[in-house]
Amino acid sequence: MGAVKLHGAAAGLVDLETEIRRDLEILDYPVKSWLRPFKRDDGAHVFDVVVIGGGHSGLCAAFALKREKILNSIVLDENSEGEEGPWQTYARMPDLRTRKSVTGAELGYANLTYRAYFEARFGEETYQELKRITCGEWTSYLLWMRRLLELPVRNGVRVEGIEPEGNIFRLKTNAGGAQDYILTRRVILASGPLSTGGTNIPDSISTNLPNSFYGHVYHSVDFERLKDKTIVVIGAGASAFDNAGTALEQGAKAVHMLVRRPHIPRLSLIRWADWSGFMNTYADLDDEQKWKLASEVQRNPSPPPMRALNRVDKRENFHIHFNSPMIAAGIEDGKAVIETPAGKHRADYVLCATGFAFNLERAPLFRPFFSDIALWKDRFAGPPGGSEKFSNSPYLGRHYEFLEKTPGAAPWLKHIFNFTQSATLSMGPTGRVSGLKYGVRRLMIGVSNSFVREDFEQHLASVKRYNDSELDGHPWVEKPPAAI
Ligand SMILES: Cc1cc2nc3c(=O)[nH]c(=O)nc-3n(C[C@H](O)[C@H](O)[C@H](O)COP(=O)(O)OP(=O)(O)OC[C@H]3O[C@@H](n4cnc5c(N)ncnc54)[C@H](O)[C@@H]3O)c2cc1C
Repeated sequence: MGAVKLHGAAAGLVDLETEIRRDLEILDYPVKSWLRPFKRDDGAHVFDVVVIGGGHSGLCAAFALKREKILNSIVLDENSEGEEGPWQTYARMPDLRTRKSVTGAELGYANLTYRAYFEARFGEETYQELKRITCGEWTSYLLWMRRLLELPVRNGVRVEGIEPEGNIFRLKTNAGGAQDYILTRRVILASGPLSTGGTNIPDSISTNLPNSFYGHVYHSVDFERLKDKTIVVIGAGASAFDNAGTALEQGAKAVHMLVRRPHIPRLSLIRWADWSGFMNTYADLDDEQKWKLASEVQRNPSPPPMRALNRVDKRENFHIHFNSPMIAAGIEDGKAVIETPAGKHRADYVLCATGFAFNLERAPLFRPFFSDIALWKDRFAGPPGGSEKFSNSPYLGRHYEFLEKTPGAAPWLKHIFNFTQSATLSMGPTGRVSGLKYGVRRLMIGVSNSFVREDFEQHLASVKRYNDSELDGHPWVEKPPAAI
């Protein structure tokens, strides 16, 4: 029986995969694997790198580790395959906010870009017609890359603690209730924005409303239960509109959005930041320059995209209330009541679109070593009254590594690389697709560098032992030393 012939999309993808394998082979230089096998004294296996988080940051880091021949590495993600990151869960938007031409996760391999993947399946013309990358397609693209590149991801494993053990780390893991541990020389935190403090829920909501009356847009929301109900959405960022749209499309009776400001901001500084000079060199600016730039970005919160506004603006049961910061919350006659200077709003349910919390001190992954890490407030006296979030941001080294608050107190910290959004003040945009290639390049220099330094004596011994010559035997060439 002859080989099965593939047609159309399947054939396009098979051809593309063949080309990619060839690209990877052509660019596979140098090929030498350079890290010595490492075991604990009792013989237990020690990974070179464990990446915590299998979203696009973690996958991209894993790909780069492979290219750098740091092969004894693994990615752990607590979610199941395909459920990593927000795309299939709490990103309630039809498509990515980023332009379809965005590159980054492919690390510069043109055939691995989203565009190449899409065109192989649906053709160039369809790509020209495509407006945006849907969340579903983004997930399928990431899963395709992961499979094709054979990235070593283990799903369903939560890391519950990072403990230094001599010159390695012991990661406490939990896989479906089974506790275990994994040893590693280096840790890359690619654990996403939820890992740096969870969600931000205003105190007056969490204190005064029973759990059944409120939720956060970055958690699961039972929209079926909200059918025919009146909902208050607090906040006016992109996710606020995405969730208002989802609730209305799924049959909510009315949605009232409470906005602190008198209007929706016009400018997206995320767009402004999309230039290579900025993303490549931000991390090398001095502290004051970083603080000034980041303050400008913080002063101008990103607006939702136009299509998120259009999703709700024509609906009669959508109501937007400007100049309406929440000043109190409570329950009256079985309804949630949110008070603002402009009046009271009664609702069956309150959805907080109030962003991520930023609290490393309480975040399970960071808590054990939080008191040892240098923060911005330890190293840089920003202007009086500056942002608390900035002051409490980790003050990182040039390659995403944590630095010690007190020199010498926790030298192992430099072997944990913080590739989460909490790196942004030190390193520039982290986590977003467009920043990936710049960030990962820098990250890899740091990881490689740290191994070479730690193993320096072995490398020195190795260069002294080096005895591999293609010239042996030629009469003009010195004789090799006699075997010892
Ligand atoms: C709603 C929303 C929409 C966005 N849209 C865009 C966009 O269009 N374009 C763009 O560039 N950016 C966007 N962003 C910003 C950014 O790209 C995303 O936050 C993106 O998910 C970041 O990728 P990541 O891999 O860093 O983190 P995540 O995608 O969050 O992945 C982190 C992973 O780590 C895992 N994890 C966390 N803690 C542990 C642990 N202890 N043990 C094991 N696993 C763990 C999680 O399960 C998760 O899968 C958006 C963000 C949000 C919230």
